Amino acid sequence: MKDEEYLSLESNVRSYCRNFPVIFKSAKDSYLYDKDGKEYIDFLCGAGSLNYGHNNLQIKQKVIEYLNNDGIVHSLDLATTAKQEFLETFYALILQPRKLNYKIQFTGPTGTNAVEAALKIARKVTGRKQIISFTNAFHGVSLGALAVTGHSYYRKGSEGSLNNVTFMPYDSYLGDKVNTIDYLRRFLEDESSGIDLPAAIIVETIQGEGGVNVASNKWLQSLYELCNQLKILLIIDDIQVGCGRTGTFFSFEESHIIPHVVVLSKSLSGFGLPFAVLLLKPEIDIWKPGEHNGTFRGNNLAFVSATETLKQFWSIQKFEKEINERAKILKTALETIIKTHLSNGELRGKGLILGVDCKKPELAKQITNQSFQNGLILERCGSNDQVIKFLPPLVTSIDVIQKAMRIFEKSIPTGLLRL
Ligand SMILES: *Cc1c(COP(=O)(O)O)cnc(C)c1O
Repeated sequence: MKDEEYLSLESNVRSYCRNFPVIFKSAKDSYLYDKDGKEYIDFLCGAGSLNYGHNNLQIKQKVIEYLNNDGIVHSLDLATTAKQEFLETFYALILQPRKLNYKIQFTGPTGTNAVEAALKIARKVTGRKQIISFTNAFHGVSLGALAVTGHSYYRKGSEGSLNNVTFMPYDSYLGDKVNTIDYLRRFLEDESSGIDLPAAIIVETIQGEGGVNVASNKWLQSLYELCNQLKILLIIDDIQVGCGRTGTFFSFEESHIIPHVVVLSKSLSGFGLPFAVLLLKPEIDIWKPGEHNGTFRGNNLAFVSATETLKQFWSIQKFEKEINERAKILKTALETIIKTHLSNGELRGKGLILGVDCKKPELAKQITNQSFQNGLILERCGSNDQVIKFLPPLVTSIDVIQKAMRIFEKSIPTGLLRL
């Protein structure tokens, strides 16, 4: 079959492959290779699912060893040694050192399924229907998760009802002078505002798909305070920016809040395998057995890869330091490039999720297309796809970051098209 014929077998719903129209064959660390052997630096990073790069040798060896020993691949949610080792390791390396007391729920293996479970448990615990979400939020595309997702492009993809959600302005949505938590508080405290007290507020600390919008620590703290005061559950969707992306394992660590529910997925397996969990404060874990179920709850191969990932990267402090060193280099390089070539551009982000808001969608598209031609894969995000998102694997070497920056710089058009 010719390439074009093969491609048209897949539904029109395919998306990333349209922006990067080659056929990829292999991948290692921060690189992808197409079938003609051309190499690309991968700053798309599986939208944050490949924080440890492609095919990390030690993780891969553990998975292969497990398979070679006839380790159990599928077991519904039966207890397995792979699950036991994951739970023990996650407790010892992630929860205990951070003094976090959470129960761990395995949901279906996608982020959106874990979001569904989070919304369900919040409604079940509080007996309330409403959920509050924020402008530009992205939480997935199954019905419940879609209802708390802001972008009309995704919302229009469903004729189903997306009810019982109120959207409120995210941090800085109304400019720097408006404190959007004060705004939200006014609605929730006024019995006559027309907005029902919600079961939960769901939020990303940095909106990954929504344009790399960062909520300040102060904003998160005020939100947390408001939730505690009004007995609303706070759900942090850490699917994209958790697992080290911002420089700490959880993105909210610096703000010292303790969400009632945390959703993790994308990079949790460490190897790009499907895997999602909810972390629940013990007192809200009121599920009856199997009440939220799914055939693929807990993926044994992902348990194995995640356990090895945690041991390799999160048993030492060094990794957080490395992330922050790399982040500094990426940020400085982008600042210089913006100053020289994109005078109206705005840099946002934290740790190793950075966004360059080009203000003009056509310009962002032109730059990412040219970057791709030049061997660097970059995604666009934001309400009009006007933001170029830099999401390198956290293990990307400084050399590769610098090389990517040279490619990015030379992919910016000169002359009239410049901002
Ligand atoms: C990707 C993502 C989701 C959805 O996860 P899927 O595995 O694609 O269903 C939800 N929330 C955030 C913040 C995400 O980045």
